[in-house]
Amino acid sequence: MTSVPLVDLAAQHAAVAAEIAEGWRQVLAQTSFIAGPQVAAFESEYAAFAGARHCVGVANGTDAIEIALRALRVGPGDECILPANTFIATAEAVCRAGATPVLVDCADDGTYLLDAGAVGAALTPRTRAIIPVHLYGQAAPVELLLPLAERAGAWVVEDAAQSQGARRGGNGAGVLGHVAATSFYPGKNLGAYGDAGAAITDSGELAERMRMIADHGTRRKYDHEVIGFNSRMDTLQAVVLSAKLRRLARWNADRQEAARRYDQLLEDVSEVVRPRVLAGNEHVWHLYVVRVPERDRVLKELHAAGIGAGIHYPVPVHLSPAFAGLGYADGAFPVAERAAREVLSLPLFPQITPAQQEHVVAALTAALRA
Ligand SMILES: *Cc1c(COP(=O)(O)O)cnc(C)c1O
Repeated sequence: MTSVPLVDLAAQHAAVAAEIAEGWRQVLAQTSFIAGPQVAAFESEYAAFAGARHCVGVANGTDAIEIALRALRVGPGDECILPANTFIATAEAVCRAGATPVLVDCADDGTYLLDAGAVGAALTPRTRAIIPVHLYGQAAPVELLLPLAERAGAWVVEDAAQSQGARRGGNGAGVLGHVAATSFYPGKNLGAYGDAGAAITDSGELAERMRMIADHGTRRKYDHEVIGFNSRMDTLQAVVLSAKLRRLARWNADRQEAARRYDQLLEDVSEVVRPRVLAGNEHVWHLYVVRVPERDRVLKELHAAGIGAGIHYPVPVHLSPAFAGLGYADGAFPVAERAAREVLSLPLFPQITPAQQEHVVAALTAALRA
């Protein structure tokens, strides 16, 4: 029986192994393990790739969101609107910055992206940020959020952790709002060999403030303006990210081809609700997420058959014990709650083969019809 992993980082490493070995040899010789010249090089490469003027490398994506909020002076007493169906980090960063998450449901259109109408209804005089999440690899409709933000005097802070290389209306996901945070967690479309993240923006002033906050609140050594973070990118990670960035467009195209193949293979499997691409989007397929009946039983059978399917995410933010204090009831966000019960992520990575995908769909069909 062949098994198919959810992601195959070994296959990806093989493509860049020699380049990384040489880059790491240089870092070990120069011993500038933090903020070495390779970090600045990656920052400018990533800014160019994303179409932003500035990129600030930090320790992880969660910090990037919090640092962006703090740099915008969003904090205690302020509200930040974000979708209920996201990875927990989006909400954590808001709370850690001292602000209050205000959750909204996602649109009931098969995209799982936040519902701009619900955002409009959730605005209050305290709203200081709207945080769209470019979930699964496609951009949220930021153009609908910008006028709402402007009316409220709020910022649009994109959570672009899952959307490196995605575009909306020709613009990169991550430069649609005022500032964007991204994550280079190993399994992301652009993944480090450990934790790393970045914030990108066109504003030089904001970039400088984020860099200051990320480095103990200093612009000059021992001149601490604010209580900051120790959140910097390791030089070793920058080497990995630069090597992989050179292949990212190719790898995203391979993901798109694999998604098209799943679409075809699943066309006649009537039990499966396939993912939908929002008009105007170029999707980069961080995840290929379907909805199925009896999801938990189906997942178990896929695992038993050696298929590394996953769930992103099984519990929406408001039903997570950590966020019980926000006071939302079970039933508050029906679309997000149904998604949490029914979503299933199928194996998807740039090097997945047609035979592997056929095997996944055969196992899925067998599980559904068992
Ligand atoms: C991965 C992820 C994050 C957090 O990134 P880390 O680097 O793991 O801190 C934030 N938001 C979303 C939507 C993510 O998928």
